[in-house]
Amino acid sequence: MIPISETVEKIKPSATLSLSAKAIKMKAEGKDVVSLAAGEPDFPTPENIKDAAFDAIRADKTKYTTAAGILPLREAIKDKLKRDNGLDYSEDEIVVTVGAKQALFNALMVTVNPGDEVMILAPCWVSYIAQVKFARAVPVIFPLQEERDYQPNVDDLEKLITSRTRCIVLNTPNNPTGVVYAKDTLEGIAEFAVKHNLFVISDEVYEKIIYPPARHISFPFLGEGVKERTILVNGLSKAYSMTGWRIGYAAGPKEVIDAMIKIQGHSTSNATSISQYAAIEALRGPQDSVEEMRREFQKRRDYVVKRLNAIGFSVKRPLGAFYIFLNVKHLFGKRYDGKEIKDSTDLCELMLERALVAAVPGSAFGREGYIRLSYAASNEMLKKAMDRIECFVKNIR
Ligand code: PMP
Ligand code: GLU
Repeated sequence: MIPISETVEKIKPSATLSLSAKAIKMKAEGKDVVSLAAGEPDFPTPENIKDAAFDAIRADKTKYTTAAGILPLREAIKDKLKRDNGLDYSEDEIVVTVGAKQALFNALMVTVNPGDEVMILAPCWVSYIAQVKFARAVPVIFPLQEERDYQPNVDDLEKLITSRTRCIVLNTPNNPTGVVYAKDTLEGIAEFAVKHNLFVISDEVYEKIIYPPARHISFPFLGEGVKERTILVNGLSKAYSMTGWRIGYAAGPKEVIDAMIKIQGHSTSNATSISQYAAIEALRGPQDSVEEMRREFQKRRDYVVKRLNAIGFSVKRPLGAFYIFLNVKHLFGKRYDGKEIKDSTDLCELMLERALVAAVPGSAFGREGYIRLSYAASNEMLKKAMDRIECFVKNIR
């Protein structure tokens, strides 16, 4: 028997990925499952980006690249950060990673020491807590409330500060709640971070999936003092429907970026060369498809919210990302076909087995009493899912 390290033994597999895998397996077995589990755009990657990848292959851009990522891509990211976010970074303050996920992972690995505390606002994306534990640091959860639209109150954050608090992880637009932090909320967090000498990891992967009147403010834009303590993380997965291409990036102080490149040099070497060339086209080419997809998500959001409210849930329209974090507490303690629903895991299991709709239990995001539905699915699939959920809920007594 080969023993597994204690660090890894304590970490659970990614619930979003394992539930999506389960839905895919059921589909392969011939079951007509509708998956609202995976948080990934269902659109094909835009043609111009695919063409750039074919061109890269034909031009033999198929070798190792520098660990930091090819210079023309870092230049394209630099220009994007200026154009979209009003930020000035140089090419050597940017690293290209294997998805935003690796940027977050490397950012934590290079900045926290064992036993350091990392503040995470919950509900939160499934991988933050696991990644903090990989870095042998301690996740400290700050609970956000639905009644307050999941906006953090900075006075309450103060209560969690200890001498070991090093960092705070932010995610706006947010997965799983769809919340977009207001400017004054971000300013409050910035002031708090400066006061306690914390650094901030700002996960902005849903930047482009945002609905009026919300608008995205990149955290480092809040001022030089804020920028110098922020590691900005973003990626191409969501905005350009490029989840499988695995291109993310981080921008931040050069020492941090250099340390992240060092990890990369010893682990993945570099993000796939072909994807990197395609990413230049994504960032520099026409941006119409980004807006088209965003508009489509907005229509889907409106449809799903309307249907869920008609079914009897109480749902507000989220202002960002493509998730509904659905309050299902009123279903707990009731039964479906004789089976008691005790928690969100029971509910998701029953819904998958009996209604053939996959969703992720709120517990995976650190919040019991909710399930996450992704509306990054076709209109046809969403209609099917809503019809099935309606029928399923009617039979819960
Ligand atoms: N952060 C959040 C909040 C996410 O939902 C995702 C989606 N997987 C990621 C980071 C990572 O995205 P990727 O690695 O595909 O760039
Ligand atoms: N971010 C997506 C989600 O939350 C993709 C899966 C993952 O990487 O966790 O479902």
